[in-house]
Amino acid sequence: MTASPRKILLIDDDQLQCRLTQAHFKKFSQETFALDWAETYEDGLARLLGGDYAACLLDFQLGERNGLQLIGEAMAAGCHTPIVFLTAETAERVDIEAMKAGALDYLVKGEITSRMLERSLRYALNLGETLDALRRLATRDELTGLLNRREFERILAEESDRALRFGRPVALVLVDIDHFKRINDTHGHPVGDEVLRQVAQRLSEQARSVDRVLRYGGEEFALLVMETDQAAALDVAQRICETVKRAPIAAGDGVNLSVTVSAGVAVIPGDATSGTALLASADKALYTAKARGRDCAVAAG
Ligand code: GH3
Ligand code: MG
Ligand code: MG
Repeated sequence: MTASPRKILLIDDDQLQCRLTQAHFKKFSQETFALDWAETYEDGLARLLGGDYAACLLDFQLGERNGLQLIGEAMAAGCHTPIVFLTAETAERVDIEAMKAGALDYLVKGEITSRMLERSLRYALNLGETLDALRRLATRDELTGLLNRREFERILAEESDRALRFGRPVALVLVDIDHFKRINDTHGHPVGDEVLRQVAQRLSEQARSVDRVLRYGGEEFALLVMETDQAAALDVAQRICETVKRAPIAAGDGVNLSVTVSAGVAVIPGDATSGTALLASADKALYTAKARGRDCAVAAG
């Protein structure tokens, strides 16, 4: 079975551009693409954010607004689809602005040939894949695949601001594996690594799609639970403790380990009014959980 052709989205208020692009696509020598056309800014942005496109060809002039604004909105919403800018403007400024906004290439409408368009799309797709890989390296923890500490700090600041501005609670659950050092010391680092991977997996299973799960440090994890008050967040934390403990972890070489975790919970606005204070508060609660004998969850305050 051959894979269906990758979809390219054209956002342009001119139907002629759609027909021209369609004709170019038919003349491509290597690549087969399917073209979708969005005629307006709103429709284009909505479809782009739908995320189903390999790349996007984006017109500069789109009614009242322009393609630069659209790129800005799409990027702010976390869209990483490669974008090739199309414009009638030969002004160098638009070229530079488009690249600055995040477009991967820039073509002047009157000058486009089929070969040029095909090459531009191929390059944009390639560069898009490279950027995806780099983004993953920069934001993910290699061992567990969870978001890393740097992302944690960025997301913590972003979500605390949002919570305060819109009066919507956000809870932080800090989770720390109990006596993890013993696991390393007794069974070696590779077994310790496998325990980290599987605990990360169990944590992820407890999170809803809107929540964020991150590796905060060595054997410490963090969950940002959206729109949740302290009691509900404590429930989540207790469920995490139970899920980790319920079944032993098969960590390779026939080693089955009973692992427990401790958790500390804090909430904005109840326990803190900044990301930094939220972290300090959850950390203090975690410390209390450890002092109470581990394998339990404690709420701040
Ligand atoms: P507590 O119950 O008080 O949390 O005790 P603990 O032993 O879990 O805590 P401690 O902070 O003393 O030890 C954490 C250990 O985690 C020490 C460190 O070597 C280990 N560690 C950190 N990162 C990794 C990793 O990526 N892989 C492995 N295998 N071990 C790691
Ligand atoms: Mg620790
Ligand atoms: Mg620990």
